[in-house]
Parts: sequence; structure tokens; C-alpha cells
Amino acid sequence: MDKVIILRYSEIHLKGKNRMFFENILRRNILEKLGKFELKTQFSYGRYVISEYDPEQENRIVSALKTVFGLFSLSIATKTTADPADIAEAAVKLCSETKGTFRVTVNRADKTLPYTSVELAKKTGGAILNEYPDLTVDLHDPDFTVYIDVREKNTSFVYSQSIPCAGGMPIGSAGKGLTLLSGGIDSPVSTYMMAKRGLKLTALHFWSYPYTSLEARDKVLELAKLLSVYTGTTEVIVVPFTKIQETIHKYAESNYMITLVRRSMMRIAEKIAEKKGCGCIINGEDLGQVASQTLESITVTNSVIRKLPVFRPLIGYDKIDIIDIAQKIGTYETSIKPFEDCCTVFLPDSPVTKPTLRRCELNESKIVNYDELIDEAVDNAEVFVVTEE
Ligand code: ATP
Ligand code: MG
Repeated sequence: MDKVIILRYSEIHLKGKNRMFFENILRRNILEKLGKFELKTQFSYGRYVISEYDPEQENRIVSALKTVFGLFSLSIATKTTADPADIAEAAVKLCSETKGTFRVTVNRADKTLPYTSVELAKKTGGAILNEYPDLTVDLHDPDFTVYIDVREKNTSFVYSQSIPCAGGMPIGSAGKGLTLLSGGIDSPVSTYMMAKRGLKLTALHFWSYPYTSLEARDKVLELAKLLSVYTGTTEVIVVPFTKIQETIHKYAESNYMITLVRRSMMRIAEKIAEKKGCGCIINGEDLGQVASQTLESITVTNSVIRKLPVFRPLIGYDKIDIIDIAQKIGTYETSIKPFEDCCTVFLPDSPVTKPTLRRCELNESKIVNYDELIDEAVDNAEVFVVTEE
């Protein structure tokens, strides 16, 4: 009898002909995640099964697997033969700390076996009751369920719990994206959400040193590192943004400052996305949250984008729900550290909430060497690589 971990896929089972494509990427990601552990991984009996691991490492292995997108749940199981006596022995062990009511649920993939699912459930239930006479059977609302999964080749798995995993689609299965990562609460969450849908992400940060400090940049790198538990090793591109902000400040109407800054961010983002082979841009905008996120503001910042789709996974979320996710994924405490983001540099007293495209373009036409400044920022970007410990 061996202890094993059974993994279950999330949406992949809904895929048709291209299911193999998703499975292969998921398997590659699982292997990468578990690279630091000594264990055996095997796809067999219609399941992905991890075995021959050090029991002392079990909690760490389970924690690591819980961050792999594409996995729906996992169970720590006893692997034994299809012999009812062996199955009963495993089930009895599983119930050693159980109180109250229980039931046995059997799934029998091998239909050639000389017993039915009901017979096996009854026999196993009987063995459990023999050993623990205080327990009672409740088929409808038990405190504890013993699952028996009888597979082909004289193999069965006995377990009681399904531990939820991260869900979503395997990283890389949806292609590549460029995520705009500030030091705030929102963008780490938008990054997480799009990684969960299978995008392999590169992060982009606009940094206005010395208006924003070294610590502000390091905070973003720290956030990217926290996220890399889910996203895998990630490139963080830091764009020097000071000159652009100073120039916009010098030439443009002050109430248009933020709008114009955001338009320049999007221009740079699209150029970098194309350079990096990213098929989309992601940001943490949330409708109506601040002046730069009104419908009119989003319209004029979006309009500089020529080809790529811009995904805003938080657009319909309440801040409180975003904070909730940030806490769950472990980025919140870092996000609330008090370092300024470049958007607060040259912040006007009353930023325009309903900017017009005509006025944006009029202001931009006054900025000397605007296109060159954008290209210079792209060319001078610095690349960092972050990875989980
Ligand atoms: P966040 O909490 O993510 O900073 P926010 O509510 O502060 O968001 P804004 O400052 O308007 O909102 O920014 C909206 C989005 O623009 C951010 O979610 C992020 O995707 C992007 N963004 C803002 N500042 C930067 C920056 N310095 N570098 C990269 N992206 C940025
Ligand atoms: Mg911000």
C-alpha cells in the first residue's frame, strides 16, 4: 500500500480534439513546479498520480500543487490492489480519527471485476463498522465519506478528502500577454486573473525615478515575485518614465496630465508587447474607481492602441472584492506599503473626468519630440527576471 496524490484537471475535460494540447502544457507546468522534490509523476489509470515522495514533504508538495492553474482538486490517497480485503484495510486506516457518521462511495472503472460497486461499498462499510463500532452509516448527509476508485490493472485508490486547487487553465495554453503592473492593489489581482486563464505573462512597470523611489520599483519586483508562485518565472520590464512625465507636464494642460500620461503608457505598452510577442495587454482598470477610469478616460487611453486587445479583468469589480482576492493570493500586504506610484507625480488638483480625444490630440501636438520620447523609453527599458524561491 502506497501513499499517492491524485490530481484532477479543471476545465480541460471540456475540451474536445485539442485536449492533448492542454494536458501536455499542464503536465509540463506540474513537472516544473515539482522539480525541486524527489518523486514520481505518472499519468495512468485515467489519472495524473504522484507517488514515491518523502511523506515529510507531503504538505509542501500539496501547497505547491495548489498554485498550478489547470488543476481543479487533489486527493491524498492510499493506492492498493482491487482486492476487497486490501481496500477494506486501507479504508479502515483512513477512518482512525473519525467520529459520527460516514458512507462509502465506490467508482468502479474496471467493469470486469467479480463484485459490483454496491457490494464493495457494503463490504468496506462492514469492515469499518467492525473496527469502529461507534460510527454509524448515513448515506445522505455523512460527516465523512470514504471514496474508493477502482481502476484497471488491479489498482484502486482509497481517500476521503478533495483539496481544492487554483482552477483555471494551464499557464501558456492561452498564449502570451503583457501585464501592466503598478505597486497598487489592483494590478497584481488583474495579473493573477489573466494568468489563471492560461496566459504566460510579462510584466511592465513605468518608473519615474527619482520622483518615485528605488523602493517603489523594488516593491513592484516583490509583487511580481509573489505572483510568480502562480505565474512561473516572470520577466519584469521597467520603463524609465521620468522624461516623458516631465515633458508632458511642461507642455500640456495640467488637468489632462493623467490622461496624457496614461495614453503614453499604452503607446509604450503596445510597442513592448509586440517586441515580446505578447498578443494582448492587461491592466487593473476598474470602471469609475478614479478619474482616469471613467468611461471617457478609458475610451481615450484605449484609442492609442492600434492592434492588440486590452483586457481589464477587474472592470466590473467592487474594490472590496479586489482586496479580498489580493489577500487570498498574498499580494495585499505588499501592495499597501506606502511607496508612491508614478501616476501620483505631477498630480493635478482637478484631473479631467470626461476627457475628449480632440483635446488629448491637441495637447500631444504641443509636446516636442513626443514620438522620439516614446521610442527612447522603449529602448531604455531594463529587464529583471523574478522567480519563486
Ligand atoms: P493599481 O492598484 O493597480 O495601481 P489604481 O487603482 O491605482 O490601480 P491607476 O493608477 O489608474 O489605478 O492605474 C490603472 C492601471 O494602470 C493599473 O491597474 C495598472 O495596470 C496600470 N498602471 C498604473 N500605474 C502603472 C505603473 N507605474 N506601471 C505599470 N502599470 C501601471
Ligand atoms: Mg496605481
